[in-house]
Amino acid sequence: MVGLALPLDRYVSDEALRPIARKVMDGERLSFEDGLALYATKDLNGLGAMAHHVRQKRHGLKTYFVQSRRLSYTNICYTQCQFCAFQAKPGDPRAYVLSADDIVKDLSDPKNRGVRELHMVAGHYPKLKIEYFEDLFRKLKAAFPDLHLKVFTMVEMGYYAKNSGISVEEFLDRCVAAGLESCPGGGAEIFDAEIREKICVGKKDADIWLQNAEICHAKGVPTNCTMLYGHIEEPKHRVDHLLRLRDLQDRSIARGKAKFLAYIPLAYQNEDNELSRTYAIPETTGAMDLREIAVARLLLDNIEHIKAYWVMISPGLAQVALSYGANDLDGTIIEEEIAHRAGAKSPQGLAKSELARLIREAGFEPMERDNLYREYEVEAPTLA
Ligand code: SF4
Repeated sequence: MVGLALPLDRYVSDEALRPIARKVMDGERLSFEDGLALYATKDLNGLGAMAHHVRQKRHGLKTYFVQSRRLSYTNICYTQCQFCAFQAKPGDPRAYVLSADDIVKDLSDPKNRGVRELHMVAGHYPKLKIEYFEDLFRKLKAAFPDLHLKVFTMVEMGYYAKNSGISVEEFLDRCVAAGLESCPGGGAEIFDAEIREKICVGKKDADIWLQNAEICHAKGVPTNCTMLYGHIEEPKHRVDHLLRLRDLQDRSIARGKAKFLAYIPLAYQNEDNELSRTYAIPETTGAMDLREIAVARLLLDNIEHIKAYWVMISPGLAQVALSYGANDLDGTIIEEEIAHRAGAKSPQGLAKSELARLIREAGFEPMERDNLYREYEVEAPTLA
């Protein structure tokens, strides 16, 4: 679908989509009802064409990726998310907690050469308090001054602030002073209260996620945002979730300090967790995954980057998603643990050259980035 040659509505066969296509062409904001229509349509290619039109207007063919490393400082978690296959309780032979020195040593391994971003999220473990994170961030910055530290879901931040007996504001200030630079977007799951009660009873209050994201933005700390789809939620819950993110982004943009950098739809992984045992939930399908990317591109008109997270939807489908609104393939993602424990079949990490090849073969132009979307040209491959 690279480069649409005809007027956009010529690509749309569903009559219900035509008024939306006109709004998209005119750059008008879409409504809640429009969002429901985008989920209801069987015209997946028409939906994709609309999303691709917006992607091309914003980014042309440029497609970002980052050399990144994932790491969880502990898998011990006292919170009970029914979809989680990662957590371990103390005494479980899988349980671990890494010290700052363990993490510095691990990152010193040559396999991490070229990594620009460290993405850390982990369990909620009562023994860790603010001093642990200050020590960790200071040691990481001393050892790797150029490594961008992207740490904490919004729920995790709230948990560790409370566990340290301080406000989220003070927790954040102290972490930033020690080296924290941005936050990932996980933990948002689905904001609807009834669904949240069923999938993540231990972190059921969506307002905490939204409030903490707003505190980050107000303090100049950019974050990402996500939605976990493909479990027991319905389209109306997804539209509600996306519009709540859009509203928050409007406020953050108006404030002018920091905002959501990227949105990442997270496909539910259905293995080895309580939620799937209760509801017998099938894997998400390719059509579902592509629709999620396209709807996000159309509804989230104020979030610049939409990622196709290849770890959860596979590298091949992420490649196709570049023609359905995505402009970012996330990263090399060395050693991902959370999605793989829940059944993700994707490989453990992709080389930079492989990501660039995936992007080029889909007809797009690879651009390496750091977490703040500063750009680093990717050399064209040469014949050996
Ligand atoms: S998703 Fe995070 S907070 Fe929830 S149980 Fe797993 S590790 Fe704990």
